[in-house]
Amino acid sequence: MDKIRVRIAPSPSGNLHIGTARTALFNYLFAKKNNGAFILRIEDTDLERSNEAYTQNIYDSLKALGLNWDEGPDVGGDYGPYQQSQRFDIYPKYAQKLVEEGYAYECFCTQEELDKEKEESIKNKQPHKYSGKCRNLSEEEKNELKAKGIKPSIRFKVPQNGEIGFNDLVKGELKVNLDTIGDFVIMKSNGTPTYNFAVVIDDMEMKISHVIRGEDHISNTYKQILIYEALKAEVPKFGHLGMILAPDRSKLSKRHGATAVSEFVEKGYLTDALINFVALLGWSPSDGNEIKNVDEIAQDFRINEVSSSNSIFEYDKLNWMNGQYIKKMEIPKLVEKIKPFLSKYDLSELSQKQLERMIEITREPLTLLSDITDEVNYFFGGKNVEIEENVKNDVLNLEVSQKVLKDIIDNRIDSWHFDDEEKLHDELADLRTYFKENEGIKPKQTMWALRAAVTGKTHGADLVAILGILGHDNVKSRIEKAILS
Ligand code: GLU
Repeated sequence: MDKIRVRIAPSPSGNLHIGTARTALFNYLFAKKNNGAFILRIEDTDLERSNEAYTQNIYDSLKALGLNWDEGPDVGGDYGPYQQSQRFDIYPKYAQKLVEEGYAYECFCTQEELDKEKEESIKNKQPHKYSGKCRNLSEEEKNELKAKGIKPSIRFKVPQNGEIGFNDLVKGELKVNLDTIGDFVIMKSNGTPTYNFAVVIDDMEMKISHVIRGEDHISNTYKQILIYEALKAEVPKFGHLGMILAPDRSKLSKRHGATAVSEFVEKGYLTDALINFVALLGWSPSDGNEIKNVDEIAQDFRINEVSSSNSIFEYDKLNWMNGQYIKKMEIPKLVEKIKPFLSKYDLSELSQKQLERMIEITREPLTLLSDITDEVNYFFGGKNVEIEENVKNDVLNLEVSQKVLKDIIDNRIDSWHFDDEEKLHDELADLRTYFKENEGIKPKQTMWALRAAVTGKTHGADLVAILGILGHDNVKSRIEKAILS
């Protein structure tokens, strides 16, 4: 195999999991680094658990993360179909070949019998493996069972001597004694392939050169290598990634927070931050700078340097990283990303320019995009603003505040330059100086009065910019409403 070909093979039995996104990313990086192809295969042989909506979610999530595939169900390629449910006619002929050549056999054991065997092993505290009961059935016995209407499954005959091993790209030499592996089913009695069989046939036919996936698949890899060898096919190279654990070291699950990529997006995470964070679950930058985009990571990615141990999914770190991305993202792009979180406001109240300025001055403290919702209420509502109860008592109703507000209305507001922040900045400076020198009012207090009247709050974004966005008429009206008659 000369060309590097890797794949991600999700099963559409749920929305794309963040762990699968990490596996997809590492495959993608490996392909990019080596001028290879990145392939998407949808493993939907389990028709009962698979669902079209989940397949769509897988496409959307991978695309949102920028992990575009070179071959796949939607884009096609030379080795399709890329959806397992459309490949059902491919598997039986390979299974038949294995039976004919003595590598596999028909098994007539019923579920009941198999359950009983399993119970027995548990009772005897033995690791369970299939007894091999149907290994040596005669033609006559088989015909008899078939005549009874029992449909056989097909089991792979695992040699019971010696060991099987491979040199893992991430973990180094791995091996296991063959007598720990029981004969396993490759075709179910209903004629559909099991995961271990379908995956080998597909990887073989799709000329996959490297299989990079989670270490929970190591026990499958031994079985898959046995199948490759029986088929006399070239065995791909394997690399198994450590697991992703929650901060409490248990399996990452819903109770820890979001787990699906789409859920993170709905909560207000940027996909650029998410993919950067996910890369750090196993990979570390050679220059120590963790904030990098996918292209930069691809340049610095070596599969043999990926950590072989488990990684902890630190939500706190992801939050920090998301904040960093929010702070540095180009404003027009950020506005587009943030719009879904402004749905409760009437965005037509602001021009695109005003909207961009609003985001520019409010993004600093955001951790999640969704934090914006509560940060910007005072930019909407035009001539009216909701005043927080304590702001009324603690600021607006004070005599000094009333003095400032009246002066603004009577002597200043109509000459302020709302469309020129620089001038407006100086005009507010004049206001502060005037009250400090003539009334002994602290500059901070002067500003509080104005901010409270205009925004209903005592703190928030840059006041000059807020005034500029709201404009003369809205600001004037809000101040007039705050003046006690
Ligand atoms: N469909 C399998 C899964 O989602 C693919 C595993 C593999 O990469 O072989 O776990």
